[in-house]
Amino acid sequence: MSSVLKREKRILIVAWGLLFVCMLIFICFFIGGFNKKVGTTKEELIFETLSNKKEVGKLTTLEDQKNNIYYKINYPVVGIKKIDEFIKNKIDILKDNVNNSYVGENNKIDIYYFIDYEIYMGIDKTLSLVLRERIENYNLSEVENIYTYLFDLDNGEEISLDDIFSEGYKDVLTRYIYSNDEKKFKVVLKGDKIYLLLNNNYQEIEGIEEYLKIAKEIDKDYSSDIKEDEWNLVNREYVVLGDVVLYKEATVTSEVVGSVKKDEVVKVYRQSDKGWSMLLSSDGVLYIESKNIEEKKEVIEKPDVSVDDGIRMYTATDLNMRSEANSNSELLDVIKSGEEVIKIGESSSWAKIMYNDKVGYVSKAHLTEIKIEKKEVKLNIPPQGHIDPSKPMVALTFDDGPSIKSTTRILDTLEKYNVHATFFDLGSLMLRYPDIVKREAKIGEVGTHTYSHKNLNKLSVEELTEELRLSREAYKQVLGYEPKLLRPPYGSVNVNVRAGITDMAIINWNVDSLDWKYRNKDLTLNEIDNFGNLDGKIILMHSIHNETADAVEVLVPDLLDRGYQIVTVSELAYYKGYKLETGTVYYGFK
Ligand code: ZN
Repeated sequence: MSSVLKREKRILIVAWGLLFVCMLIFICFFIGGFNKKVGTTKEELIFETLSNKKEVGKLTTLEDQKNNIYYKINYPVVGIKKIDEFIKNKIDILKDNVNNSYVGENNKIDIYYFIDYEIYMGIDKTLSLVLRERIENYNLSEVENIYTYLFDLDNGEEISLDDIFSEGYKDVLTRYIYSNDEKKFKVVLKGDKIYLLLNNNYQEIEGIEEYLKIAKEIDKDYSSDIKEDEWNLVNREYVVLGDVVLYKEATVTSEVVGSVKKDEVVKVYRQSDKGWSMLLSSDGVLYIESKNIEEKKEVIEKPDVSVDDGIRMYTATDLNMRSEANSNSELLDVIKSGEEVIKIGESSSWAKIMYNDKVGYVSKAHLTEIKIEKKEVKLNIPPQGHIDPSKPMVALTFDDGPSIKSTTRILDTLEKYNVHATFFDLGSLMLRYPDIVKREAKIGEVGTHTYSHKNLNKLSVEELTEELRLSREAYKQVLGYEPKLLRPPYGSVNVNVRAGITDMAIINWNVDSLDWKYRNKDLTLNEIDNFGNLDGKIILMHSIHNETADAVEVLVPDLLDRGYQIVTVSELAYYKGYKLETGTVYYGFK
């Protein structure tokens, strides 16, 4: 490869890097400016829910306690040795810094240390990593730092930000980005002259006007370069249809850098409508023609793996029993929800069962080892009799709190208009801000959002029991009675969770305000507006964002103007004529 091409590659990386840096600076500036404006306190972030932008690699969590410091560190394992070592090393350094700066008197935890990350692929074979570090202590002085890294996927090297700003790249960069808009060719720096690279020919150009002039004359079919926004996120597995080669760039004229065999499974990160798919291997980014791969389908199942003696299980819903592990096969029976069956075999999605002396197959996801009890849940707050059941009503629910500033502001608004709401609080935060929780219970009602915001579907029976025990204890310690309503983190409830929660009603939602995503009053209000008639609906919001508190200040009087009664979940259920029971997931009450 000629040094000119290397140079070109370098400029590509630098261009992408600079864009990334600009975005970050912009974001930081925006957040910074916003903080100043409304005085956001940082305790309002819950680190576990920080980011889902984990496009590449395997999420790995390190939880640890050393002296007075509790650590929870999420980091990616990418599978490229050099990058993984780099990340590991960075985390060690950050950890050491905390260790040395926050030495405590004893083993009582007074520092909470979190790292979470975002990672995604850029075009031009780069990988962007953002580490977010957060240090909290009891007197609520928090530190949050953001570290960004960019890697060259061809060699696993970090591209340092110093590189980007040095060597007078900036001028050339402007031209490159401009040319990238035209998407067909690249501008290359060679010595101190600027060239247009087209069909492997270098043509010296004077300036951007000349460049644009040439650009217009180019054959429109020449499209070896695919624009950044033309790569759609895919992140799914594909099966290779034949023995085919992999390319270094998304064009058949580029270097062949590997091959894959028929039936091999590859993971596609991004795909372009122009016929190319982007893969990540231990050697970095490679490209394959999309016509050579096909999305991976469910494997054909052989559910005859035998289970010793059979396992007693229960159906979580009405289930069709089939003659084969195939939903088109003969229907043998319809088994009612809560019936006992004996599982004698299984595959990834089917269970082979015995029921009524027959052997057949049912969907495995709807069987549970614990019988789902349908038991009435006695509500904490008896209905007050001030609601007119003939008029429309809506329940506002607030997750993830409490927090000092925004939850207090939300409560102020509810109090001002004398309306109710339901707060699904985290046990860990209830213990930290008991007075706010008590005020929530006075103005509305409090349910639990678990103790530590774990995805309940991923817990074993023992872990689920423990998480529920901690939630219940924190709740009882603060409020003096037991929680009756549970909002599962992420709304995740599988049959085992439904079966495992035997004393609370599970409350999800049917209106998602997306407040956590927008972090913007108007967009949040607009999102709720899109749902039209809200009678009987449950609106999901989060009490930890100031923008949500802003939205509530407008939403509450607006709903009242439109004739809605704003009630708690318990009130909504009661006045709509529902008796809440365990084992059922409620989304709204019509
Ligand atoms: Zn949550």
